[in-house]
Amino acid sequence: MRLRNIPGSQEMIDKSPLVIKEAEKTRGLWKELFGNDHPLHMEVGMGKGKFLMTLASENPGINYVGIERYSSVLIRALQKMEKNPLPNLVFLCMDASELEAVFAEGEVARIYLNFSDPWPKERHARRRLTSGAFLARYDHILEPDGRIEFKTDNRALFDFAVSELGPAGWKAEKLTYDLHHDEEMMAGNVMTEYEERFSAAGNPICKYIICRNV
Ligand code: SAM
Repeated sequence: MRLRNIPGSQEMIDKSPLVIKEAEKTRGLWKELFGNDHPLHMEVGMGKGKFLMTLASENPGINYVGIERYSSVLIRALQKMEKNPLPNLVFLCMDASELEAVFAEGEVARIYLNFSDPWPKERHARRRLTSGAFLARYDHILEPDGRIEFKTDNRALFDFAVSELGPAGWKAEKLTYDLHHDEEMMAGNVMTEYEERFSAAGNPICKYIICRNV
């Protein structure tokens, strides 16, 4: 994603009640924050937030957290939300490597990873959000029956993600190499910003839904 420094973005984030600050204090208390006991779903690497805003407006019985590490990107989601606030969606400006500091064991029901950065160099493989290192973090915060959903048009990244599953103790419940021509997996699909762009360019979209291999 091309990043432009947006003047004042950090200040806007600091002031906004829609972005949770000192999120470690909310660890284990997300139900209290939302004021209900609805399941908690999150997108890691949310970008400008279109996907989560659509899900949150369609599913008032689910609480959503959008995680994005760059304030200059998160600010775009924040600007959209301020025009059309949703009671069941909040944001975190943080790096996903710190997830376990912010979510307690089993506190999350579902994690979405959409068009994650590919980190193509082998020496950076652990930074990929679908690496075994990240699957271990998700393992701590996901409830026993939790699921992770991943979409990408990057076939090499998808093949890497699939190869990480078995050794990390996960298995694919559903998998496709061409989501937009897979009637079953396409049902209810919400397009992300990147998905709109890459599918319009003719790229097939890969997707898996995974669960623990127990
Ligand atoms: N998910 C959106 C979509 O599909 O349109 C955005 C995809 S964009 C390629 C990936 C986003 O993930 C970027 O905004 C990037 O800053 C964010 N990101 C990458 N690694 C991250 C990490 N470790 N923690 C939090 N956000 C991350």
